[in-house]
Amino acid sequence: MQTHREGGPSLTLQILIGMGAGLAFGLLLNWIGVSGWIEAFLVKGLLHVGGSIFLASLTLLVVPLVFVSLVCGTAALDDVAKLGRVGAKTLGLYLATTAIAVSLALAAASIVRPGAGFDLHTDASFQSQQAPSLSDVLIGLFPTNPVQAMAEGNMLQIIVFAGLLGLALTLSGEPGKRLLKFFDDLNSVVMRLVMLLMRLAPYGVFCLIAKVFALQGFAAMSHLVHYFFVVLVVLALHSLITYPSLLKLLAGLSPILFFRHMRDTIALAFSTASSNATLPVTLETVEHKMGVENSIASFTIPLGATINMDGTAIMQGVATGFIAQAYGIDLSPMDYAMVVVTATLASIGTAGVPSAGLITLAMVLRQVNLPVEGIGLIIGVDRLLDMVRTAVNVSGDACVTCIVAASEGQLSHETYRGEMRDP
Ligand code: ASP
Repeated sequence: MQTHREGGPSLTLQILIGMGAGLAFGLLLNWIGVSGWIEAFLVKGLLHVGGSIFLASLTLLVVPLVFVSLVCGTAALDDVAKLGRVGAKTLGLYLATTAIAVSLALAAASIVRPGAGFDLHTDASFQSQQAPSLSDVLIGLFPTNPVQAMAEGNMLQIIVFAGLLGLALTLSGEPGKRLLKFFDDLNSVVMRLVMLLMRLAPYGVFCLIAKVFALQGFAAMSHLVHYFFVVLVVLALHSLITYPSLLKLLAGLSPILFFRHMRDTIALAFSTASSNATLPVTLETVEHKMGVENSIASFTIPLGATINMDGTAIMQGVATGFIAQAYGIDLSPMDYAMVVVTATLASIGTAGVPSAGLITLAMVLRQVNLPVEGIGLIIGVDRLLDMVRTAVNVSGDACVTCIVAASEGQLSHETYRGEMRDP
């Protein structure tokens, strides 16, 4: 998967400009006073329409993106079965680290409460989830009608259906292969659509940010800054505590050397905001600098770039807490559990391209009945966070790869310690 680089300022720069301009314009309107024609034509007219169209374009991608990328992902898991023990260890660690990541994020969001006092209202009525019985939860996972599940955006049912379809494809011999090729092509087309629609982002971000600041003034700023730093702190905690502890405890490897080896890869992930674009360098790093055998790395790294997104899950956890607080909605323990499960699964369905995590955030919000328009609050600072969380995403892939390789005796400790370098 390529990231697009075309002439003119990069998309990141354009989004940052859109964000800065929206902020200034919104504050100006707030200073003049939002009433009369400013309110009717600008804030609730132009800015509202522009922002809503952008959000709708992101939301429309959710079902196709998750469905297609999961069908393809399940086909990749066919190799997991072939790889047996290595596959199971890798998958288990990928899912476990993501679940830890999102739990940390939810804990931080409920302690710091960055969205409290935002005082927004939504027309969408929120009903906190009553804890249903376990049997209802299990039965509810299986769609009686997959088309209805898609029409209603029932993500867990879509995930189950995509998984079953992917499984059937891999078991169907030639016809399955042909159809899988079709799904692979469809995946590339959906990714392209993501990139095309992201070109609207600078304008969409301008409208959304301007509207928030016109209505909220400087008060919005402090909430956003709070949100931004909570995400950054949790990303840092996960990278500097979870990964080092796992490396040390499970594999006896030095975390300091790990991050020293990862320097270039992290820089690339940061600047491209794409795990996929970084994949070749991540692979090179774990094989040549960390001494992981190709037989392991060539499986775990591409799988990780596709399904393991700890940084993304952290953003989604904090964002969910933030949006609930901003709209004055209390999440029940059942909702929290639902967010952990959905964000972990969402990370499987998140493509390793810029801003994909924002799209699957809509899926997490919808699963716990939070207003999807809440994404408009955080979208302005998302590009910067995307860069940082992508660096965490690829670090997680490399960390799990080292642990699995070490446990299989497929990691050269001399190379890892820098005593022996491949030419
Ligand atoms: N940009 C991230 C990645 O490629 C995905 C996301 O969180 O948007 O890993």
